[in-house]
Amino acid sequence: MVNDHLITTQKTKQYIGRFAPSPSGPLHFGSLVAALASYLDAKANNGQWLLRIEDLDPPREPVGAADNIIHQLESLGLLWDGEVLFQSKRIEAYYSALTELATEGLCFRCFCSRQDVRATKNKYNGKCRANGLSARDLQYPINEYPGTSIRIRTDSKTVSFEDTILGSFRSQLSESGGDFVIRRKDGMVAYQLAVVIDDAWQGVTNVVRGVDLLSSTPKQRYLQTVLGLAQPTYTHTPVVTDTNGTKLSKQTFACAIDPAEAFPLLFRALTMLGQSPPKQRVFSRSPRSLLRWAIDHWELQSVPKLAKIAVDST
Ligand code: GLU
Repeated sequence: MVNDHLITTQKTKQYIGRFAPSPSGPLHFGSLVAALASYLDAKANNGQWLLRIEDLDPPREPVGAADNIIHQLESLGLLWDGEVLFQSKRIEAYYSALTELATEGLCFRCFCSRQDVRATKNKYNGKCRANGLSARDLQYPINEYPGTSIRIRTDSKTVSFEDTILGSFRSQLSESGGDFVIRRKDGMVAYQLAVVIDDAWQGVTNVVRGVDLLSSTPKQRYLQTVLGLAQPTYTHTPVVTDTNGTKLSKQTFACAIDPAEAFPLLFRALTMLGQSPPKQRVFSRSPRSLLRWAIDHWELQSVPKLAKIAVDST
């Protein structure tokens, strides 16, 4: 007789990775390094690589930024599997998770401003914890302006996880910021909640992203636990800085990736990730043949165990 249970446990789970840029500007070299690491890790594991546009902050999204990112990825040869997922189309799913958390008595309305939280060294002091939530607070769009944010209680929970590159992490949520915002004042769901809902919904098994998001991982693991969601494996790659040690970012107007420079930029990103491709001429400047080589030779253990790598260090 066939043992169904055995068959299920013997099947190896298919690797599903993702790249999840916020369209607050074009991709720059730092985002390319992060995208490339997640792409290569997925493809080297015969996995899928999904693209999710995290467009939940319209005031910070220049017109055309999402399309621009999509074209940049295409020109680099970083082609994703399936349809692009836009978070702006997923508000209902986020609100249903929010309602679930509220039903479990885990959320409260918070009237504190950013300045209030800054004044307590960015650690939320629990001032609004006694506030409840009504059904009206869980409606979207909100019908009051400005609305109130909603926080989730973290109490004294400790979160532990293993980063594939950096090793073991342990974080006490009350020490690293405390109860955190899961819905903003403007009614939009906060990044932490949206990312967790979508990683689970898309079946993401492996999150590979920049180390600048490491401090978000304990919050996301906590949300996964309280919502009963599967927990992906996490890998945080070094962020690229300028020669002064400042992270390249859209906010600091890091240069946009120029599609005409796809090959040298990919080559450089690869060496910054600790990979050792042969001389550039072997690939006749073809991004596709470079990526093929990189998938076949990807070594996650060679990625530098560093928080930062300066752009001119290769
Ligand atoms: N959207 C986030 C960003 O562009 C990344 C989200 C993630 O990889 O979890 O910084």
